[in-house]
Amino acid sequence: MAGKKGRPHSSEYWARRVRKRQELRKRQLRRKIWRFFVMTAGAVFVLFAIWGLSRFVREIAGNPANPSVVELGLEDAEEDPRASFAVDPSFQNWNYEKDTEKTVYLTFDDGPSENTLKILDILDRYGVKATFFVTAQLPACESYIAEAYRRGHTIGLHTYSHNYGIYASEENYFEDLEKIGMIVERQIGYVPCFIRFPGGTSNEASKEYCEGIMSVLSEKVLERGYQYYDWNVTTGDGAGSITAEEAAANALATDETAVMLLAHDGEKKETTVEALPAIIEEYQARGYVFKAIDRSSMVLHHPIYN
Ligand SMILES: [Zn+2]
Repeated sequence: MAGKKGRPHSSEYWARRVRKRQELRKRQLRRKIWRFFVMTAGAVFVLFAIWGLSRFVREIAGNPANPSVVELGLEDAEEDPRASFAVDPSFQNWNYEKDTEKTVYLTFDDGPSENTLKILDILDRYGVKATFFVTAQLPACESYIAEAYRRGHTIGLHTYSHNYGIYASEENYFEDLEKIGMIVERQIGYVPCFIRFPGGTSNEASKEYCEGIMSVLSEKVLERGYQYYDWNVTTGDGAGSITAEEAAANALATDETAVMLLAHDGEKKETTVEALPAIIEEYQARGYVFKAIDRSSMVLHHPIYN
């Protein structure tokens, strides 16, 4: 046993030890390199995540006007030329001249409703752009405002409540207008400048609520950067129920060159939807072009009786 103990290690033994130590060092080095890579990749990932999150927060939470614009599939508000339709008191360059080319401004009041999508499909089929003066009467249909906008139509404000009590005072009127403005802003990203008074500017029903209110409001809305549009032709679907044939006949009974056509987008206005193809086909056959209202469109005002 003693001899064995005292025996010096062979050269093979030492070579093995050196090899082992070298292998150990190599392993340690590989581990260090690996750790370095993992940490670097981790740091890059964290930086990326922070950058992405900050972008997301800026786009969504930081700008309340943007979610709907994102939903609309538009990269940002600057890319949408209709963003210039936002209410702006500094713009006063309205076009009060009548169009000299055959034009139909097809306008729908009182929507959105269960009929909105049917109307949009018909308009798409004929390549026609229209204007929707909207209300908040059917909250379940609210998203159709964004859908109409996405399909290239103009959105205008009609009224939040559609109650003639809005004509009791200037305050009442603007409170109602601001409420529908906020709903539309949620859908299309801005408050549009185009409006239509319930009953039109010529309505006399407002007399029961406040003498002279239409004279006041017609001035005040312009001061605040809005513009209002009445009509010179109507389908006649506003008062009670009419047949599709009657609606079409009413809509086409005009020799105006520039037609501001009033129709309704409402729950019980099925015949308007039915009449729409005939109305569009006949106007197109007569050489008219359909246009959605924009800032350069002909402004049409009724006389004021109150
Ligand atoms: Zn209405």
